[in-house]
Amino acid sequence: MGWLMRFIPLLISLSVVVSASADSPQRFFKGNTHAHSLWSDGNDFPEMIIDYYHRNGYDFAVLSDHNVFAKGYRWQSLGEIKGRQKEHGPGAIEKCVARFGPDWITWETMEGQRGVVLKPLNEYRHLFEAPGEFLIIEAEEISDTSASGPVHINALNLEHLIAPLNDKTLSTVKVMRQLLRTVQLQEKEIGRPILTHLNHPNFYWGASAEDLAAVVEERFFEVYNGHPRINHEGDEHRPSDEMIWDIASTIRIAEMGEAPLMGVATDDSHTYHGGDVSPGRGWVMVEADDLTADNLIHAMRAGDFYASTGVVLSQVRYDPKTRIIELEIEADGAAEFTSELIGTRKNYEESVVQGIGETLATSIGQSVRFEVPVDALYARVVITSSAEHSNPSLEDQHKQAWTQPVGWR
Ligand SMILES: [Zn+2]
Ligand SMILES: [Zn+2]
Repeated sequence: MGWLMRFIPLLISLSVVVSASADSPQRFFKGNTHAHSLWSDGNDFPEMIIDYYHRNGYDFAVLSDHNVFAKGYRWQSLGEIKGRQKEHGPGAIEKCVARFGPDWITWETMEGQRGVVLKPLNEYRHLFEAPGEFLIIEAEEISDTSASGPVHINALNLEHLIAPLNDKTLSTVKVMRQLLRTVQLQEKEIGRPILTHLNHPNFYWGASAEDLAAVVEERFFEVYNGHPRINHEGDEHRPSDEMIWDIASTIRIAEMGEAPLMGVATDDSHTYHGGDVSPGRGWVMVEADDLTADNLIHAMRAGDFYASTGVVLSQVRYDPKTRIIELEIEADGAAEFTSELIGTRKNYEESVVQGIGETLATSIGQSVRFEVPVDALYARVVITSSAEHSNPSLEDQHKQAWTQPVGWR
């Protein structure tokens, strides 16, 4: 073990994982951190998308359009808006007028083409936001490309747009690292935290588990993304998103003395009138003191959140002294729940990917109690419901939840 490996864990073990006392109730804020609107390649008005999340029990919502902020002037032609509609019946225009009234939409003709001026966030956020009840966080999907494929990173709570490098000769590691350094500089400049997560690593196979392991500046990635064409389950040669989590985390902990990745679930919604990239598929539940962007980000960095596609946890507790993780799962009709403790033991074989992300224990029922084995590098829990997802992005998709890795400090 080199000096660096012995030293780094001290630096990164300052925050404490979920460890509230057993009698204090946990309050989780529900939010989706990835959605697209007409500002880029989505097919609905941003205020309609925020309205969807507001009406559907979310506490916070994020619009993360590709390389653009909902600020200033943006015009879309009526032809483009109608062309993106995926089903017959009322589309973006009709629904927006029905919701906000006939005078809401600003029409403008540009070079003979009829079109709409999109509203910037500051013109409608007051209709939804209320302290402690609903929050909108500004974001960008920094959409870049490396020699391997797309490199998309969501950045939340930033002030200035971050431009992609657009250099296809660079490796994914270089692109990620350079973008994340730019984020860090902006964070210092504006004096508030910016949360980043690496999106859909298997989308055109742009980012490998090894890439994700190497770029330790990135603490978060999408273990689930609701877009159906992101190769969530991998293929015969390449690991699933969930296995990428275990491979990258194992490399980081065992070989680099670094913290594992944390997993978020997101919608990445693009279509809101039919189409197969619709909202309501994946989200995060963040245990924070207060509903502010800074608090949510600090809580997520401390690991105080879980990812979900439908399974709701009323309690998530881990005691680092006893290495016991306890969960309470909320009832969902007659659904039954299977919880698996997933982790990598210290004697795993790197060369043959043997023992990485194996099932260390299984539990059935709503009350879950696991002891993380002492020889495990880390462990995390995935809960799978017998109930099917109501709006699946995958065949035979069941509702799930994923807690963050523990036992690695
Ligand atoms: Zn993307
Ligand atoms: Zn996206």
